[in-house]
Amino acid sequence: MAYDPNNIFAKILRGEIPCNKVYEDQFALAFHDIKPQAPVHVLVIPKGDYVSLADFTASAPADLIAGYFRAIGKVAQQLGIVEDGFRALFNAGANAGQEVPHLHIHLFAGRPLGPMLAR
Ligand code: 5GP
Repeated sequence: MAYDPNNIFAKILRGEIPCNKVYEDQFALAFHDIKPQAPVHVLVIPKGDYVSLADFTASAPADLIAGYFRAIGKVAQQLGIVEDGFRALFNAGANAGQEVPHLHIHLFAGRPLGPMLAR
């Protein structure tokens, strides 16, 4: 799938739409999900035009891949969710219900999160 530069997270990255930011560095931006599904629900996106994990891992430069994953870890530390535990989730494509076509990981925390998949 070709990257759509008008997707909502591209607009957030360009500062055209506001977000409730929790972390930013040269590789990644993290912000609270607009419709949280847990007491903590944060999205971490890479600074680059990637639709999903498949094209990111296939074509992003190594420093961006490393920087993005390090940022995810830093966000989890900053949010204080590491000790009690959290869930990290990528939706990719139609079967996963991916709505926004810019790579993002969901970080869920703040309560016991139940089974891994909805039945
Ligand atoms: P997906 O289903 O693509 O994995 O998840 C997209 C997520 O983005 C959803 O949890 C949705 O609530 C969130 N979202 C959609 N639009 C916005 C927005 O404009 N701002 C923020 N902060 N989150 C959004």
